[in-house]
Amino acid sequence: MTDFDIVIVGGGSAGCVLANRLSADPSTRVLVLEAGRPDHRWDFVIHMPAALSFGIGNRFYDWKYESEPEPGLGGRRIAHARGKVLGGSSSINGMIFQRGNPMDYDSWANTPGCRNWDYAHCLPYFRRMETCLEGADQYRGGHGPLVLERGPAASPLFEAFFEAVQQAGYHVTDDVNGYRQEGFAAFDRNVHRGRRLSASVAYLHPVAHRPNLEVLTRAQATRILLEGNRAVGVEYRRGRRPCTVTAGQVICCGGAVNTPQLLQVSGIGPARVLEEAGVRAELDLPGVGENLQDHLEVYVQYACRQPVSVAPHLAMWRRPLVFAQWLARRGPGATNHFEAGGFVRSNGEVSWPNLMFHFLPIAIRYDGTMPTSGHGYQFHVGPMSSNSRGWVRIRSADPLQKPAIRFNYLSTPEDRREWLEAVSVARKVMSQPAFEEFNAGELSPGPEVVDEEAVLDWVRRDSETALHPSCTARMGTDHLAVVDPTTLNVHGVRGLSVVDASVMPQITNGNIYAPVMMVAERSADLIMGNTPLSPSRVPFHRHGQEDQSP
Ligand SMILES: Cc1cc2nc3c(=O)[nH]c(=O)nc-3n(C[C@H](O)[C@H](O)[C@H](O)COP(=O)(O)OP(=O)(O)OC[C@H]3O[C@@H](n4cnc5c(N)ncnc54)[C@H](O)[C@@H]3O)c2cc1C
Repeated sequence: MTDFDIVIVGGGSAGCVLANRLSADPSTRVLVLEAGRPDHRWDFVIHMPAALSFGIGNRFYDWKYESEPEPGLGGRRIAHARGKVLGGSSSINGMIFQRGNPMDYDSWANTPGCRNWDYAHCLPYFRRMETCLEGADQYRGGHGPLVLERGPAASPLFEAFFEAVQQAGYHVTDDVNGYRQEGFAAFDRNVHRGRRLSASVAYLHPVAHRPNLEVLTRAQATRILLEGNRAVGVEYRRGRRPCTVTAGQVICCGGAVNTPQLLQVSGIGPARVLEEAGVRAELDLPGVGENLQDHLEVYVQYACRQPVSVAPHLAMWRRPLVFAQWLARRGPGATNHFEAGGFVRSNGEVSWPNLMFHFLPIAIRYDGTMPTSGHGYQFHVGPMSSNSRGWVRIRSADPLQKPAIRFNYLSTPEDRREWLEAVSVARKVMSQPAFEEFNAGELSPGPEVVDEEAVLDWVRRDSETALHPSCTARMGTDHLAVVDPTTLNVHGVRGLSVVDASVMPQITNGNIYAPVMMVAERSADLIMGNTPLSPSRVPFHRHGQEDQSP
């Protein structure tokens, strides 16, 4: 048994931020427990941006979850990757950096108790964590650990893409993370000098030498130890060896699946779920594991009649060359290829964009499978503010058994309508004159998939998750809230906090890594009792209002 001031469960995205910020005070002894492996410097699966599909579905890097049969997707189970390695999902993710729309945060602020999570309060923390190589200003940071490189997005296919979005009537914006999100642009990426810049590389490695910070890998927390209504430590396993650590404070950073699971096996959760799993309820907290949100996506793919896609670089015989170039930090291995995309409002009822598009100069799925051996290109598209809600629930008291997860994708009429709009916008852009010289025909869903029922049927069969589970231990003060928005403390349990994707009140309208990191930065100040950064009230683009761009 050892004793620490703070135990952080999960050395993932949020966990690495907290490990850095909370151990800055040398008198605070911090322990990080990470269930996965270390992220060695030589491990190209993690550090080579273009190798991103190798970690997915690989048990050495991925928890490899699967949903329950999804009723809205014809009973399909959806494979769901989660990083199981130092850096967590930021060590295997797509490296796309999207803050979301300012109005996402103003909407968070409408959740009871969350008024200080509006855009004005969150913006200084986005800025604190960033070094935006395009330049710092009142929107973007210039001195933070996360160096953001923008995609060059400069090949003939990217040129056609930017022309086509304008031909289709959409806007090209300077910076989707700055004044105006709505429109299309080159994207910021967590890639620096040809290598992935994970949360671990950015936040944990630079402070690993601190004597008051200890990081244990292959250490899986199995239970939070409680004495009455106070958390006093954590039980965990290293290999098969059961261990215990005591702590003044336990912070759960296991992510939107594992955090509610750990709370539930520790007796904190909906009484009925605990009872059915055979766990004694220490605290009936009905929101734990509920309110699960995610983004679902499809690939609208085209064959390309000119040899200009990046497909040839993936050929087996070329891989040694790509690898050698990458060692010199250049070439096709040094990019994630997600270099551009955009945000669209698909109907007049939404005030800010509800669809996100990623354009890729190749036709390929996340798992690396390709519909054609030749050249292709694609849009990766899906609705961003679905009102479908799911849950994470333990099946038994065994902390090593995977929990049941159901997203209830496509379960509402609004969700289904936005899907039709998403596919229609993608086709509208791809059928513009700018693509004429490249377009050799739609591969997926295919020209025969036209009427609404056929499109929805294809979405049910072909969609996959964008890997953004969130909101399962959300902040707030209402009866389904789990975490106090002013302290990140779990309601009703002293010395226990949650800081990760679980605490978001609602999913944001883009990829969620940047919001999770911002939440962790701000939470670090709230947990340490620091004076929070002053709110920054800057104008931003709002549809229907006159632009006040600086
Ligand atoms: C394949 C993939 C691609 C993605 N692409 C993008 C993208 O391009 N852009 C983007 O913005 N977002 C992307 N995301 C989503 C984004 O990376 C995550 O939402 C975000 O990193 C989650 O951060 P987190 O801190 O909540 O959890 P994580 O980063 O997943 O960290 C949780 C950590 O806790 C550890 N852990 C869990 N349980 C325990 C336990 N009991 N004991 C000890 N340790 C434990 C895990 O092993 C993990 O290291 C992607 C995600 C995946 C999986």
